[in-house]
Amino acid sequence: AGAACGGLEHKMGIHGNATCVMDYDKAKGWLVGTENKGMAAMFVMMNEARLGTGLQGLSIGTAAYQAAVEFAHDRLQGRSLTGPKSPELPADSIMVHPDVRRMLLEAKAFVEGGQAFTLWTALQADLQHSNDAAEAQKAHDYMGLITPVLKAYLTDKGFHVASLAMQVHGGSGYTEHFAASQYLRDARITMIYEGANGIQALDLVGRKLPANGGRAIMSWFADIDAFVSENGAEGPIKPFVDGLADAKKKLQEGTMWLMQNGMQNPDNAGAASTDYLHIFGLTALAYMWAQMAKAAQAQVDAGTSDPFYANKLMTGRYFVERILPDTGAHLVKMKTGAEVLMQMPAEAF
Ligand SMILES: Cc1cc2nc3c(=O)[nH]c(=O)nc-3n(C[C@H](O)[C@H](O)[C@H](O)COP(=O)(O)OP(=O)(O)OC[C@H]3O[C@@H](n4cnc5c(N)ncnc54)[C@H](O)[C@@H]3O)c2cc1C
Repeated sequence: AGAACGGLEHKMGIHGNATCVMDYDKAKGWLVGTENKGMAAMFVMMNEARLGTGLQGLSIGTAAYQAAVEFAHDRLQGRSLTGPKSPELPADSIMVHPDVRRMLLEAKAFVEGGQAFTLWTALQADLQHSNDAAEAQKAHDYMGLITPVLKAYLTDKGFHVASLAMQVHGGSGYTEHFAASQYLRDARITMIYEGANGIQALDLVGRKLPANGGRAIMSWFADIDAFVSENGAEGPIKPFVDGLADAKKKLQEGTMWLMQNGMQNPDNAGAASTDYLHIFGLTALAYMWAQMAKAAQAQVDAGTSDPFYANKLMTGRYFVERILPDTGAHLVKMKTGAEVLMQMPAEAF
């Protein structure tokens, strides 16, 4: 008694999941945990839910990407710019077109990088329980720092990938004959619930960066520096290591800028937060790709006949060459600060 369903919501997507308004009228509440420690208790649940939502965004993007690959193999349209590849057929498959490959590789690079990032984070969740106190503390710090990045970055990119997957389908993707439109609708909520992505960005710059005197971000920089100095010598994975080093430098520059300008005017921190989170997400994926490239290159050097490893290196190369340069644009944007955003009178919008 006192709790009732006030009605079902009609939603854009996730139709397999019923969402309702709950009305609490003279309902009885029970204190869970200690008085005035409710927010802290709730965040135990929220942090896990945020990681789950990041995984949900990535997973929907993954399914959308797989559907787009299947479609691209089947769809015959146009001819290769360098001459017919299937002259016996009325047209070539759209797989021959560089722009279709751009969309598929963009999706693949995010999906595989995001999967590695999720697994790396899961490893930290385990290491929090290590018997080695220093290792446990570092992993615990990382979980705090990484949670908003994983949630917001993987859901922004999960939706982006679902949108690319629809684009690969052309007009068919916009109809209900294919799953592409459902993936796009379903992916969109992950950017909103469990704390909208703008709120994740504020959590990152306002709470997670300064926590414990910046201990977590310092460990992050130190771990990346150690990887770069161990693996940066001339060799086939040097482009991955150089890309990681450059992204880390930009993340560090963005962090310094926030320290200098965010304190002095908090609107600067708010204005920069989403671009900063994206530099962070890109750096995290660069770190994952550098580690995957190292492992894949070792297999190639050992003479593997499994094409998986060479394909992994090619996907990573796309990430480094055509996605990672976005760090530069995000850094330039975040450094412009709050002025252009805040000077516009509210009634002028
Ligand atoms: C399908 C579905 C299921 C849900 N399930 C649950 C559930 O089970 N339990 C539950 O408690 N809730 C649930 N929610 C609610 C959900 O968590 C919230 O809708 C979500 O966190 C966003 O909050 P809001 O709607 O109040 O948006 P608002 O807080 O009004 O935000 C609107 C916009 O303003 C921005 N914004 C708001 N405040 C700030 C700020 N201080 N600084 C900068 N930007 C800001 C946000 O980023 C966003 O872009 C659900 C929602 C949906 C759609």
